[in-house]
Amino acid sequence: MILAQLPRFHLSILAKPSFALSSSHFNFLNPKPSVEVARTLFSFTSKSNLATVEPIPLSVSDSSDLDDAPVEISLDKLFIPPETDISGEDSTSLTARILKGSNIVLSKYARDAQVVQADYVKSSVKTEDCPADGLPEFALVGRSNVGKSSLLNSLVRRKRLALTSKKPGKTQCINHFRINDKWYLVDLPGYGYASAPHELKQDWNKFTKDYFLNRSTLVSVFLLVDASIPVKQIDLEYASWLGQNQVPMTLIFTKCDKRKKKKNGGKKPEENIKEFQDLIQGFFETTPPWIMTSSVTNQGRDEILLHMAQLRNYWLKH
Ligand code: GDP
Repeated sequence: MILAQLPRFHLSILAKPSFALSSSHFNFLNPKPSVEVARTLFSFTSKSNLATVEPIPLSVSDSSDLDDAPVEISLDKLFIPPETDISGEDSTSLTARILKGSNIVLSKYARDAQVVQADYVKSSVKTEDCPADGLPEFALVGRSNVGKSSLLNSLVRRKRLALTSKKPGKTQCINHFRINDKWYLVDLPGYGYASAPHELKQDWNKFTKDYFLNRSTLVSVFLLVDASIPVKQIDLEYASWLGQNQVPMTLIFTKCDKRKKKKNGGKKPEENIKEFQDLIQGFFETTPPWIMTSSVTNQGRDEILLHMAQLRNYWLKH
């Protein structure tokens, strides 16, 4: 079986970041909204030369916590962005190109990742009411309490920006925040409120699904999953729906700082993450990109911004 023959190597999710955010300017001309282009982003992967990379185990953990075993990622589970060739890389150089705590290989499009300005723009109840300026956007979605507001605030380094979308009347809206006047972060309503009335759940499903399917400037959905608790069925259903509808998706595992095992059989973030990925494997042709994060330690912040930058810059170019 081909998969079994692929070389495996160890990536430490605790290694120091290999890349700093670039502050160079990108000429933001001619955005081309196209659902098709965005959707093909994740169906591309360079499979041809994977088996030629030597299986050199990498032990790059700089953690003093001996309990934190390095995460093992096989090459076929990496997210290799379009126009990215890893065939000439040995395992050391390839490891250096992988964003810390993720399966994402950096491409030539990873630039202009810094956030210098963030402004709340508007709250919309329908896809048609969303901003029409054609700027690319990333939508954050997840179960209520997953840490979405905390992550949004951490990404823009503003303590209370996400409060805007928690105000009465806005929690069920599509909330747009413009970043650097060049792209949008979109805060979508949290799902899975146990107490929400049936009609509200139905409505929510209808309008967010419409947004996912029809928003031509949506580059990728960022699905937030709490890594500190066991896998939830509702998150699996969400991921599977996105996969089956070929909506580009990045998995953001939140609360990865919560490392203490609970007495009641609780698992570590890495174990929950692995289980989640195993369970959704069948819904995707290729492994979706994923990143471990914590809004407490800021783990994953730079990595998310670099990943967004490379998706965005590729999208703009095509
Ligand atoms: P939202 O409902 O998805 O917007 O979630 P919030 O951002 O309001 O966070 C819900 C709860 O989880 C709050 O008590 C946060 O302090 C906590 N929380 C959010 N992110 C993290 C994280 O990365 N680590 C830890 N330990 N707690 C977090």
